[in-house]
Amino acid sequence: MSFQPSHPIPYGRQHITEEDIQAVAETLRSDFLTQGPKVAEFEAKFAAYIGARYAVAVSNGTAALHLCALALGVQPGQRVITTPITFAASANCVLYCGGEVHFADIDPATALIDLAQVRRLLESHPKGYFHGLIPVDFAGLPVHLEEARKLADEFGLWIIEDACHAPGGFFEDSAGQQQGCGNGQLADLAIFSFHPVKHIATGEGGMITTNRADLYEKLLVLRTHGITKDPAQMHRHDGGWYMEMQTLGYNYRISDILTALGISQLSRADEGLARRRQLAVRYDAAFAAVPAVRPLAATPGHAYHLYVIRVADRKGLYDFLRTKQIFAQVHYIPVHTMPYYQELGWKPGDFPQAEAYYDQCLSIPMFPALTDEEQQYVIDCILEFVA
Ligand SMILES: *Cc1c(COP(=O)(O)O)cnc(C)c1O
Repeated sequence: MSFQPSHPIPYGRQHITEEDIQAVAETLRSDFLTQGPKVAEFEAKFAAYIGARYAVAVSNGTAALHLCALALGVQPGQRVITTPITFAASANCVLYCGGEVHFADIDPATALIDLAQVRRLLESHPKGYFHGLIPVDFAGLPVHLEEARKLADEFGLWIIEDACHAPGGFFEDSAGQQQGCGNGQLADLAIFSFHPVKHIATGEGGMITTNRADLYEKLLVLRTHGITKDPAQMHRHDGGWYMEMQTLGYNYRISDILTALGISQLSRADEGLARRRQLAVRYDAAFAAVPAVRPLAATPGHAYHLYVIRVADRKGLYDFLRTKQIFAQVHYIPVHTMPYYQELGWKPGDFPQAEAYYDQCLSIPMFPALTDEEQQYVIDCILEFVA
């Protein structure tokens, strides 16, 4: 092995160009650092990219989840189902509103929430016991939302699609139509994050997409303190300065500085996605004849936020790769095994598929700026370890 990396290779990282830097610098010289034209421009362009009617930009993906839960009216006594294999925020948003989080185990082939398990859970309780479902397009593999929607309609649930890993991803529905992640056709709301490891980076940032006008109106108000400036919505109108706080909202806005970066990044989103898929094909080929390395299921609509392999000695491989300057990562520690969730009554053993997956999973480098040479080095190191 002749190639030696000149710097550590992470599992994911942002790709910032001179145009991105120029876009931010222009905004810094403009009249608006926040609440100017860039936020609305980013929202309109993102909605068009995702194929949804409305988009609401917010301060981060977690704020997006919180606002979604608020807009859907989550409150104490309500129960919501999500997957244990996700970032904790997918579940935490329910707790922020006083609701209860329940989990359904994953399908081991995909690491996505197993909709058959969701059905079992729903059927083992009276109708009305659960209020919502938060499926996650984990690693960039889209959840089959058509099936999720059928379940949701049968049991009276709303759906928040956590699409943080999957902008540009799609699945094929029963009519042969491509359903893009977050397009609002099947889920009530979808959320995205613009953390630097995600497809589109703004540093911190998030987005909610929806086709529902009622939820869109609520989200706009909740994002800015619960304050409205729309005379049509007001109880009275004292003058030009007048505004009304009508509900308890938050400051979950994003700035023009950050959305200027987002707009510039979004213009290269397809390029980045194509590169991710190209890297995945190369990994798939490299591991196809290596039974010790088992990648998760692949589909044409996979958005490859992560490339996850499963190996018997995961800790051994993780430690070995670090000695080779390769910083792989584990996604995720099952949420229900976190000490905070154990205090809520969940315990190891509750979701055996998620726990078995956790013992073997490793996310290896997957980001558009990863070079062919670096990727080959990663492959060679993994093959060296499992040989
Ligand atoms: C990143 C992420 C979030 C949270 O996004 P932030 O912008 O970091 O708050 C939520 N869910 C999933 C699946 C994520 O990957």
